Amino acid sequence: MKNTGLKEKHTQRPKLHRPLFALADCNNFYASCERVFNPKLRDRPVVILSSNDGCIVARSNEAKALGIPMGIPVFKIRHEIARHRIAVCSSNYTLYADMSNRIMKTLRLFTPHIEIYSIDEAFLRLDSLTERDLRRYASKMRDTVMRWTGVPVSIGIAPTKTLAKLAGLLAKRDPLGVYSAAESLMHANTSGPETSSSFLNEIKKIPVSKIWGIGRRLAVTLNMQGIYTVYDYMHADPKWIRRKLTITGWRTFMELHGTSCLSLQELTLPRQSIISSQSFGEPIDSFIPLKEALALYTARAARKLREQHSTASLMQIYITTKPFGSAPRYANSAIGTIDPPSSYTPALISRASTLLESIYRSGFRYKKAGIFLTGIHPEGMQMRLFDRYDVRERQIMQAVDVLNRKWGRGIVRSAAEGTLQRWHMKQSSVSSRFTTSWDELLHIVL
Ligand SMILES: [Mg+2]
Repeated sequence: MKNTGLKEKHTQRPKLHRPLFALADCNNFYASCERVFNPKLRDRPVVILSSNDGCIVARSNEAKALGIPMGIPVFKIRHEIARHRIAVCSSNYTLYADMSNRIMKTLRLFTPHIEIYSIDEAFLRLDSLTERDLRRYASKMRDTVMRWTGVPVSIGIAPTKTLAKLAGLLAKRDPLGVYSAAESLMHANTSGPETSSSFLNEIKKIPVSKIWGIGRRLAVTLNMQGIYTVYDYMHADPKWIRRKLTITGWRTFMELHGTSCLSLQELTLPRQSIISSQSFGEPIDSFIPLKEALALYTARAARKLREQHSTASLMQIYITTKPFGSAPRYANSAIGTIDPPSSYTPALISRASTLLESIYRSGFRYKKAGIFLTGIHPEGMQMRLFDRYDVRERQIMQAVDVLNRKWGRGIVRSAAEGTLQRWHMKQSSVSSRFTTSWDELLHIVL
């Protein structure tokens, strides 16, 4: 922000730092989505399983309080599940993605300057607000998201993104779900970080590993230097940080001191590669179902390509058996060009099938397949003089995408994807696609 250098003698309150970032973070997002449509799950421990019902990927506060660790295979905690009546849900990404879209759309009404950081987190710029309005505005955002979607969010506010992340952690503990570090850091730049404030007291208790961008491994190195908390990091020797932690660590250091180095990434650049892969619910031991599974993943990757208005010119596919165990093992991959570059699902599926034929070996039980697209170009770009960009193909795919968006994913699909799809991932207790499929709307019996 531009500093005019003018001293404002008449203002009642000291000015807040600019810029001002807010981090809006959904509380236990997956569990909260499940609870919106199934009130029986409220006030009860809830865990969500990975896409193959294998491990725990998300937990409600109650499940966290019981000490259920993240990532643990579900069979290892069968006893706890029974003893504490823990609700176990398969992951329902269709529902979570749609709920996420609704939440982000709601947040966007409060400011056009928004960076969607992950499925359940967004950074927002709130520069124009005064100190007095800040909390009120954040509370209003929170209430609106709650009323319109049913998902609770916490909002942390601070002059940098790194500090906003920390404020977000503190907001989780706040009964109103809002924490502003903007006010407490008001004087930080003028009288130095020694300024006593509730925020600075709080960060003496937060472990250094919780700082955005500092992973567990780096935290170990820092601990060996006697740096245990966020506060310690802020007071570490700047020269040491610069030398040992390079520019990234230095940027974090500056951000913790209230100097914004990371800006809002409002534009999402097209991805330069697209991956679609999955483990099968049941191993596949013959060619046809393997080809069908690969066709489905290819169709998904092609849809992602079209969403960002791109085409791909290079494809890699791979297949693999279980990497361990006593059964015979085999894994292989094949690369091929896509000529001309395309996002046309049938063309990509036929290319993937040819590649699969070249590496498929019978006599194995395959566990996983995937596709990787790269050599990404903008749609409609003519690569060579005689390349023809097929308008008809594009119109067909547009129609398919519209229908699938409207009536549910997969309503129109390639015959190559098969109809039985026995290899589909295991999801024994998946909730309905309440918000994206007419057939699965919530029924209320009076
Ligand atoms: Mg979250």
